[in-house]
Amino acid sequence: MSLSFLPTVMVDALTDVTPELLRKLGVKLLMLDFDNTIVPYTTNDPTPEMEAWLRTMAAGEIPICVVSNSKRDRVKIFCAKYGIDCITHAKKPFHRGIRECLRRYGLNPSDCALAGDQIYTDTLGARSSGCKAILVKAIDNHNFWLKARHVLELPFIFIAENRRITK
Ligand SMILES: [Mg+2]
Repeated sequence: MSLSFLPTVMVDALTDVTPELLRKLGVKLLMLDFDNTIVPYTTNDPTPEMEAWLRTMAAGEIPICVVSNSKRDRVKIFCAKYGIDCITHAKKPFHRGIRECLRRYGLNPSDCALAGDQIYTDTLGARSSGCKAILVKAIDNHNFWLKARHVLELPFIFIAENRRITK
């Protein structure tokens, strides 16, 4: 089974990703998925905890950049509001957006991590491009298709848990 489907680290929520954890992983740039990682599909308003995390990270030493497959304006509007760099139409698990981000910051993939909620887009895109993958639990799989997709991820989550890939 390809390692590309296995996250480097799994956490319950994006807000559990700390600068200390990133330093431990040797991460110099954190790419972020948007939908169901920062906010659910159903709202543009982050929780107070997520808003505080975003503001802390945006002011920190390790740059953050949203790398989203979304084509919707809401991602750009959100990122502008919180002063976060942003790449849309990323086409994860393909490398278009990830490569654009690496070029923009002039970093090697091994120095970067991508945090996201989906194994078949975020984890696979990160690992197959040479980046580290941080798998977060989806904020809200609010419909049947999101729930069904998560079921297809469970074998990889099970393997990762048994390898004790935790923070
Ligand atoms: Mg997502």
